[in-house]
Amino acid sequence: MKAIEIQNLTKRYKDFLAVDNISLSIEEGEIYGLLGPNGAGKSTTINIICGILNSSYGEIKILGETLSIKDKSARKYLGLVPQQVALYNEYSAYENVKFFGSLYGLKGNELEECVKKALEFTGLLDMKDKRASDFSGGMLRRLNIACGIVHNPKIVIMDEPTVGIDPQSRNHILQSVKKLNEKGTTVIYTTHYMEEVEEICSKIAIMDNGKVIVEGSKEELKSIVSDKKSLILRIDNFETIDEKEIKNIKGVTDVIIDENEITINTEKEINNLDKIINYFTTNKIEIRDIGYEDINLETVFLSLTGRRLRE
Ligand code: ADP
Ligand code: MG
Repeated sequence: MKAIEIQNLTKRYKDFLAVDNISLSIEEGEIYGLLGPNGAGKSTTINIICGILNSSYGEIKILGETLSIKDKSARKYLGLVPQQVALYNEYSAYENVKFFGSLYGLKGNELEECVKKALEFTGLLDMKDKRASDFSGGMLRRLNIACGIVHNPKIVIMDEPTVGIDPQSRNHILQSVKKLNEKGTTVIYTTHYMEEVEEICSKIAIMDNGKVIVEGSKEELKSIVSDKKSLILRIDNFETIDEKEIKNIKGVTDVIIDENEITINTEKEINNLDKIINYFTTNKIEIRDIGYEDINLETVFLSLTGRRLRE
């Protein structure tokens, strides 16, 4: 069975297309990554799937049931962990999770059991009586997750659950996504961190400007750039670099200049390292460090869009 099927989904804000004719099919049991830079349309897509936002056009089926403006009952299969943490600061962790559990229709003993399990799962049971206002950013994110999974939904949708938190909490969240999935939950995971989708996702759709530009497993996506290699240089005086001149070197396909790091993608078969280095030495630009890096989803995004995932 398909967990979620989306056909021709479109969301328009006046003249602006936030989601531009997206079609996706997400199998049950998947950890499905929606990867894209800020503004790509990830949250808009997620919020339409969850029935929080109405689409301008298109069809959505959740476990075979069509979601419509009039009939949103298919939402019962879903648990949403929203991008903006939505919690009651004055409530304890326990009370917050309990509140969300009751919203999903849980009652009595079952509610208490589910709350405890959700807190245990997110590693917060020891802190259940602490008020949300006393939680750190990472703990709030985890509490946000506990609230989204308390009713044991078949499909959990997490919208950028690791933005702005410490590495330890981030790791805890990634591990808990894997655990949820091992228990049979389908997870849809949006992020602009390619390392995260590389680590946990079995299937990935890359979004940009409201469109899905490519979809597949990590291996399938990387095969798009398997004929490339990626050279990274670290330099100090990047102002003097002429991107066009580097692009003119034989074999160079993409050049991206960041603060003090330049990424130069090149056709794999062509040896042009001497020419690239020559450009820097003749222009008296000191290279601090240089080396080839493995191709990754950033390379894929770059070669499809000419831009970086992270601005
Ligand atoms: P992402 O989650 O990938 O960062 P969003 O789905 O939040 O992207 O936003 C996609 C685009 O839609 C952005 O350019 C954003 O500015 C725009 N957008 C989102 N909500 C609204 C709104 N209520 N009115 C107008 N534009 C919006
Ligand atoms: Mg978003």
